[in-house]
Amino acid sequence: MEYRGFPHRRKPDHVAGLNDAASGEGTIVWHALDPAAALERAAAQPEGLTAAEAAARLERYGPNALPEAPRRGPLARFLAQFNNLLIYVLIASGVVTALLGHWTDTLVIFAVVILNAVIGFWQEGRAEDSLAAVRSMLSAQASVLRDGERAALSAAELVPGDVVLIEAGDRVPADLRLLETRGLRAQEAALTGESVPVVKETAPVADHAALGDRTSMAFSGTLVTSGRGKGLVVATGVHAEIGRIGTMLESIEEITTPLLKQIDRFARWLTAVILAASGAVFAFAVLARGYAPEDAFLVMVGMAVAAIPEGLPAVLTITLALGVQRMARRQAIIRKLPAVETLGAVSVICTDKTGTLTRNEMVVRTVVIEAAGEAIAVTGDGYAPDGELRATGARSTVDQADTLRHFARAALLCNDAQLHRGGDGAWSVAGDPMEGALLALAHKTGLDPIIERARHRRLDDIPFDAAHRFMATLNQDGEGGNTIYLKGAPDHVITRCADQVAVDGLVRLDAEAWLERIDALAREGQRVLAFAVKSVGDRATLSMNDVAEGFTLLGIAGFIDPPRAEAIEAVADCARAGIDVKMITGDHAVTALAIAGQLGLKTRNGVLTGNEIEAMDDGELRGRVADVDVFARAAPEHKLRLVEALQADGKVVAMTGDGVNDAPALKRADVGVAMGIKGTEAAKEAARVVLADDNFASIVAAVREGRTIYDNIRKVIAWTLPTNGGESLVIVGAILLGFVLPVSPVQILWINMVTAVALGLTLSFEPAEPSVMERRPRPGNVSLLDMEMVWRIVLVSVLFAVAVFVLFFWSIERGDELAYARTLVVNLIVVMEIFYLFSVRYLHLTSLTLTGVVGTRAVLIGVGLTVILQLVFTYAPFMQVVFETRPVAFVDGAIVVGIGVGLLAVLEGEKWVRRMVL
Ligand code: ADP
Ligand code: MG
Repeated sequence: MEYRGFPHRRKPDHVAGLNDAASGEGTIVWHALDPAAALERAAAQPEGLTAAEAAARLERYGPNALPEAPRRGPLARFLAQFNNLLIYVLIASGVVTALLGHWTDTLVIFAVVILNAVIGFWQEGRAEDSLAAVRSMLSAQASVLRDGERAALSAAELVPGDVVLIEAGDRVPADLRLLETRGLRAQEAALTGESVPVVKETAPVADHAALGDRTSMAFSGTLVTSGRGKGLVVATGVHAEIGRIGTMLESIEEITTPLLKQIDRFARWLTAVILAASGAVFAFAVLARGYAPEDAFLVMVGMAVAAIPEGLPAVLTITLALGVQRMARRQAIIRKLPAVETLGAVSVICTDKTGTLTRNEMVVRTVVIEAAGEAIAVTGDGYAPDGELRATGARSTVDQADTLRHFARAALLCNDAQLHRGGDGAWSVAGDPMEGALLALAHKTGLDPIIERARHRRLDDIPFDAAHRFMATLNQDGEGGNTIYLKGAPDHVITRCADQVAVDGLVRLDAEAWLERIDALAREGQRVLAFAVKSVGDRATLSMNDVAEGFTLLGIAGFIDPPRAEAIEAVADCARAGIDVKMITGDHAVTALAIAGQLGLKTRNGVLTGNEIEAMDDGELRGRVADVDVFARAAPEHKLRLVEALQADGKVVAMTGDGVNDAPALKRADVGVAMGIKGTEAAKEAARVVLADDNFASIVAAVREGRTIYDNIRKVIAWTLPTNGGESLVIVGAILLGFVLPVSPVQILWINMVTAVALGLTLSFEPAEPSVMERRPRPGNVSLLDMEMVWRIVLVSVLFAVAVFVLFFWSIERGDELAYARTLVVNLIVVMEIFYLFSVRYLHLTSLTLTGVVGTRAVLIGVGLTVILQLVFTYAPFMQVVFETRPVAFVDGAIVVGIGVGLLAVLEGEKWVRRMVL
């Protein structure tokens, strides 16, 4: 086979001008060909390629993907670590100490600088990798015909010649020559800058048509806003128009969130203040205390290093990245990082019902074909064709066989689903689960959907839309005429009917009787669909006018769709966590209430319907949303109003969605959550979080992770700031009061190097405290540095400083040499940081439990490492030279540890008092 026509065979410089008006010889102007010619040139068939052919073409043309924007190279990333005010100061100090000939200090300073860069580099790399891994879980899907069957593939697997199906909400996966369209419109702003959707049709357009006028093409990366279509893939990857304009895939976004930015700003501000303060201390030391300038200079550097929380932003970044990874493991994929922290503050979750709260494994349980007659019970589970229809009253199903068959035919023709039998014998549905259930029902009545669909060919259709809640098809009736089948929400179908089927022909519709039957089924939690039919002679197209009236009602079907067991649990978790759950569904109000009851939602305040919402103004709606938990017959625009009403009430709202029209509500919500399986691309792109399993329980799991991450961020801050504060209090105190320094500047550098690496980071790995889902949501507007935090910083700093001074003077009084006393002090500071770490691990509960004391693996590794480093620092001869340390006697070591235990006891006492009082 010869593919000369495909752009891919050419060298890229030829490709460039390929689709232009003045296309050179040998190129194919796809938009000017008619569909049949296009298929021929592509060596393709309307029913798609075979799997083998597709594989061969994939080999030849490569995957349908654009190159990713290059990540920052390792060197650039490493050098970026030095771009920090503190590091400049340290480098300058290193140079000064070198000039002064204080070689040990120079050595230690540069070791700190390099170590800092290495750690930052490593952490950032880890964070970027884990985010990239999460992001790759969001690859786009495409619906393609292969071997004559519809299959869902990753868009990257498309090849020229594939036949692709697109519908409202999809991103077009490759450049397509359209073969069929139904009300298809595409928004091509990505390519043409034009944001008004363009109508797409199959008719060829002029050779020289500009990109925006090639209405016979759908271009890769553009968004289908309405309708659907079928198209032939003519260009993939970089050869598609989008590749030509050099658009890169969305590169990895910066690892930051509003909270992190706030902390980063705070850290920078603090750095500047501390540097200024250090300058003042320097001046004071030289002028008032008579220090030699070079000694004072080192003291100043030591103090700056002690006080500046240089590791904080990096540790927080990794805390966040680890959290994103944990959320992904719980099926919640973060698309926009700020969602991570907003999730922890969510106070209302608005969720869809079908498929999110329920299993979306539908089974038809009841069929009613005579309003006055008995219901027919349907047996069997799942999508298997095994089961039967059992009359519940006097009349057997045999008497009603004709009507039943007509009903079943409507159910399988007005239907886009297919049932498949897997290798293990289990039946599954491709398409809408409710339509799959209808096919199973048809089988149970003895009709074979494949035969029926071939006999009654579909000529036209109006697809289901949540806005009009029905679907209609126009089929041949097999006797030369055509028939419209209508299926949809009963209230929408019944209003279009004039008569109904009876034993002896047609009779006038008894709407009252039907509505009663529907209500009875809905009260049991069944989802009800109605079916109707209308003959239209030889009409071969279908418009909205054709389905306005004049139908004959065939009957109704009741489906069950049981709640997910884990959703019931998750709803209960939310109640404990002070989070309101609102169910929003397009379903019937009575069905919605019944399901809500099974889920444990609050039903005593009734249900609000879409119509009722429309009749209310914003003020009224605000008044009602607080106590109503169930919203039925709601359309996407009602979701938007609900979000706004809840937000006006000060709530932090998570909202789920799947359709194109859900995008505005998803964008407006504080956390938009799109369904990963049944959601459209449009919904996913509007959302901040995508649920890989469409499951409500995953939202709640993500909220739990969000709260944990927020806690961990607080823990990191609550640990870092006071330890820095304590160290600097020691130095400033000594200088102001005129004592000799209890620790030398290089020793301060050592402490920071060891503890920031080995201890601070461990808090990022903290699991959730057992009580995370038993507190109310945190108010959206509180600052991280609240009074409690400030109090803690002051308290711990002072305790640190007091302990240091007491130990130091006790040792000096006893007659120890200065170096020995300083060694004790360094060890004391590190020991106190370790004990304080254990205290901080539980912000809300006591740390004095077995799990609290034993800690997590990360904490144990961190503490183990710190202890080893301290032993080396204290006892290794070369360290004794560099840092002027002395081997500490065992008893003194025990005293140091004892003070650490004392500190923990005091802090736990404070937590206890706080719990008792507040
Ligand atoms: P939900 O909010 O439960 O997901 P939908 O918005 O999907 O509800 O559907 C709303 C109503 O539209 C359903 O109760 C049903 O009556 C009707 N409906 C849903 N899917 C179809 C379909 N494929 N064909 C016809 N009617 C449908
Ligand atoms: Mg739905």
